[in-house]
Amino acid sequence: MRTILLGPPGAGKGTQAETIVREFNIPHISTGDMFRYNLKQGTELGVKAKEYMNKGLLVPDELVVAMVEDRLKNEDCANGFLLDGFPRTVIQAEALDVVLSKIGVHLNKVVNIEVNPELLVKRAVGRRICKECGATFHVDFNPSSKGSECEKCSGSLYQRDDDTEETVSKRIQVYTSETQPLIDYYDKKGILAVVDGDQPINIVSETIIKVLKED
Ligand code: ADP
Ligand code: ADP
Ligand code: ZN
Repeated sequence: MRTILLGPPGAGKGTQAETIVREFNIPHISTGDMFRYNLKQGTELGVKAKEYMNKGLLVPDELVVAMVEDRLKNEDCANGFLLDGFPRTVIQAEALDVVLSKIGVHLNKVVNIEVNPELLVKRAVGRRICKECGATFHVDFNPSSKGSECEKCSGSLYQRDDDTEETVSKRIQVYTSETQPLIDYYDKKGILAVVDGDQPINIVSETIIKVLKED
């Protein structure tokens, strides 16, 4: 299964990715997670990415594309992958097409998670992430049963620097102008599926898995 999760910040891509990659036994490739990992490790790429991330802007295409190309050539992607947060511009989507044709594979489906815009900021601002295992929670919509600790591994939960109301609003604007055109891009290729992301987490998961299995 080679698939992409599309959707604005806070739509639930990371949350749904956790379930889908388990179901299909494929790696979860989140460019946001990759940048945050680089940042934590203090790599040159992480330092460069940070200035864009904290302003809610996109990291330049060439940096992102090189990082993803490298990742897709990894052996664990041989039987498929789930891309989350990539591509985010038409240039990135075109570059991905080139990379995939070089490898000799194609995308099965692109899932667009649609969410009522009023919910997005609430979702992102209330997001909490486990420092240890990366699991995602929400203070109101999906709280950890262990409070400020992760219910899976007891790690402490943190809030991303860019999950402030101001930065999230900026990211939603950037999504609308830069990433939304990809909906059309993949629709024209005949591989787009639209899923109602306003539903509870488990319902959205069931819908996405069903859509992916229709292939
Ligand atoms: P994205 O990766 O698209 O930015 P996340 O998966 O991190 O989004 O979800 C954003 C926040 O919203 C998280 O705190 C998550 O727990 C919560 N969330 C995700 N999906 C739903 C849903 N269907 N209903 C309510 N809250 C959700
Ligand atoms: P969300 O799904 O909540 O928007 P991500 O974790 O996917 O957040 O991304 C966080 C930040 O990382 C983005 O705001 C952007 O600065 C950077 N980023 C992640 N993926 C890309 C990408 N494909 N192209 C450019 N910048 C990216
Ligand atoms: Zn954890």
